[in-house]
Amino acid sequence: MARTIEPDCRQCRREGCKLFLKGERCTSKKCAMERRPVIPGQHGSSRRRVTFTEYGSQLREKQKIKRIYGILENQMRSYYEEAERMKGVTGENMLSLIERRLDNVVYRMGIGASRKQSRQMVNHGMITVNGRRVDIASYIVKVGDEIAVKESKLDKTLIKALKGMKIVMPKWLEFNSETLKGKVIALPQRDDVDADIKERLVIELYSR
Ligand code: SF4
Repeated sequence: MARTIEPDCRQCRREGCKLFLKGERCTSKKCAMERRPVIPGQHGSSRRRVTFTEYGSQLREKQKIKRIYGILENQMRSYYEEAERMKGVTGENMLSLIERRLDNVVYRMGIGASRKQSRQMVNHGMITVNGRRVDIASYIVKVGDEIAVKESKLDKTLIKALKGMKIVMPKWLEFNSETLKGKVIALPQRDDVDADIKERLVIELYSR
């Protein structure tokens, strides 16, 4: 199944919220949701947002999570199934698993400007885990894993930008922007997920 090919900003307008898919642009005045927060399409500005049924809301929330993290339906379902087998609250487990994807970790460490760019960096072999190249974006990190950038694979301008970078790091990760090395120091908890997500709706959908 293909990843969505709908342009990034259009996806935000469709969901009616900022999904932060385009790096710096998302926090600038250029963000399409700041300038024109309407449903895409010719008559978007005149169409009122529809009120969803319970099932519709569940579907929309699942779609939102898939868009934010750039994941496919079969992956999403497998996170749910694994989360259900784990101890604790299924929805929180599911989000924790998704946050632990290597492409998301690269993004959260500030190495990639967006999750999409971070996924490309992983796919192109620019990232190592515990000293070994890992080019699987869906790789799930564990506590203690050391994540590093392969400098030989990066362009010099990007290395310079990374080395001067100041980023608010989630408390479960650390990253040294001088050495371009980081570590997973804990598992992400529910309050570490910064996106506006109602995972309960997705759990209700899958457990129907
Ligand atoms: Fe969404 Fe970012 Fe585009 Fe804004 S700039 S609409 S947050 S992808």
